[in-house]
This record gives sequence, structure tokens and C-alpha cells, in this order.
Amino acid sequence: MNNRPMVVVQCWDDGVATDVRLVDILRRHGAKATFNLNAGLHDRHRQFGWIYEGTEVSRLGWDEMKEVYQGFTIANHSLTHPRLELMERAVARREIAEGRDRLQQFFGQAVPGFAYPFGSYNEEIVQLVRESGHVYARTTNNVSHPFPPEDAMLFHPCCHFLAPDLWSRYKMAKQCGVFYFWGHSYELISDVMWNAFEEVIGRISADPDSCWGEVADLFDGEMYTMLVPDK
Ligand SMILES: [Zn+2]
Repeated sequence: MNNRPMVVVQCWDDGVATDVRLVDILRRHGAKATFNLNAGLHDRHRQFGWIYEGTEVSRLGWDEMKEVYQGFTIANHSLTHPRLELMERAVARREIAEGRDRLQQFFGQAVPGFAYPFGSYNEEIVQLVRESGHVYARTTNNVSHPFPPEDAMLFHPCCHFLAPDLWSRYKMAKQCGVFYFWGHSYELISDVMWNAFEEVIGRISADPDSCWGEVADLFDGEMYTMLVPDK
């Protein structure tokens, strides 16, 4: 294997209030991250969303999102988080395309990534995501060697951030040069969990054989050529 550091990428879904605490940790450790958002589900101010493990989950308001995600990358998670494969084609297309357009307009940055709501998709949905101009799309299927994916529209992560075998997957991923994990910050429901998470981030940041990266950069010419030299 080569001496290049492994690129570590992470992404977080659903645009929830606990992302505020998450980005504080990420910033303190110099970690990059992508946030997959549903442009059709946010109100001007923070709103109650649902209950998770007895705890209220709120969605962030538009009035705070620019500040919360400043310096991080935004990706599309569809307009309203439906099961896309159950929708009529035209409706699914709007969910995918308008979700991206609205995020690009609001954040004033290109939105190259997509994450399938509920991690579910079929061939037609994959095609619609591709046609809408996305550079890659993330599933929730966990694989040992995520990179390079056979199809950039089916980019499988290594594991969920709470996976008990995260470190062995991290080690395994060094063989392909990319470690990709994902999750939702609302799953961190106690200070013990938050502290454990911060330890994970700190440990990755301190690993001289790894560096934080942006998911879209993996599919950009330069880094792609570096990681997949024979292509
Ligand atoms: Zn989601």
C-alpha cells in the first residue's frame, strides 16, 4: 500500500438542532463534514420534529442554518424525505431536483451530493439523481472498502458512526484509502455518548495516517486520480 494518508469523510442527515453541538466538536478538531438536508422541511425558526428515544428532536430554522453550517458542505437529502421509490416518477424527480435547487440558492454553494432518504432507492431513482446533476449519492449499505464505488450514485459508506466495530472498519478501510461514516446527531442522547463521539473525532484527527476530506472531492479529478491511479 502507498504512504498517502487515508481520506476520512463523514456525513450527517436531517438538519437537526443537535447539529449545533456536533459542529462545535467538529470545528474544535478541524474535522470536515457534509450535512444532508431536506429543503422542504425547515421553517423560518426551529421547529419540533419528532421524538427519538424519549427526547424531542427539532429541525433547525432557516434563520440559523447559514451560521450553523458555515465552513461545512451541504448535500441534498430530497425535498421532504419521502420513500422516493414509492412515488410517481415526476413527483420523485421534483423531490430530487427541487431539493437541490433550493439548497444551492439558499447556501449560495454548489450541492454536488445526494443521500437517499431512508437509504432506499431503485434503478429509476438512481437514474433521476444522476440526471439532476449530482456527482455522487450515498446509500446506507455499509461496506468494508467503499472506494472507488462501482457507481458514484451508489456510494456506500463503511459504517454508521455508532457501529461497535467502527475501529476495525477504519483499519480495514486503509486498504482502499477512504473511510466513510454517517449518522444523525440526534442519536447522541447523553453526555456519555457525546464524549465518546468527541473521542472518536479527536482520535481520527490525531491519526498521522489519516486526513479529513470532502466527499465530493473524492470524485473530483485530482483526488480521484490520486486514489485510483490506474484510471
Ligand atoms: Zn434522513
